[in-house]
Amino acid sequence: MRNMANKGFGNGKATLDNGYGMFLRMLEYKIAERGKVLVKVDKFFPSSQLCSCCGARNPALKDLTIRRWTCTCGAEHDRDVNAARNIRKEGIRVLKNMSRLA
Ligand SMILES: [Zn+2]
Repeated sequence: MRNMANKGFGNGKATLDNGYGMFLRMLEYKIAERGKVLVKVDKFFPSSQLCSCCGARNPALKDLTIRRWTCTCGAEHDRDVNAARNIRKEGIRVLKNMSRLA
């Protein structure tokens, strides 16, 4: 099962293992306790390929060895900080859609 789950990824996003599942359940429980919601972003969301300033997509960033880069808009990024900003933005977008549907 683990083999199947990891097939086709190799990008650090394969997360179908017991430890991660348990972590998510605990996180969801703790967040709900505080009256908040855990928002999950789609695993195919290209968080590290998008510029968190202008939104431009740069597929060359699939190369995980690129840790720092400069966008054509001039913004300088640390790979992980930029991805975190994109995930935050996407989470807020998803949350707004959820509340619109509720
Ligand atoms: Zn940019």
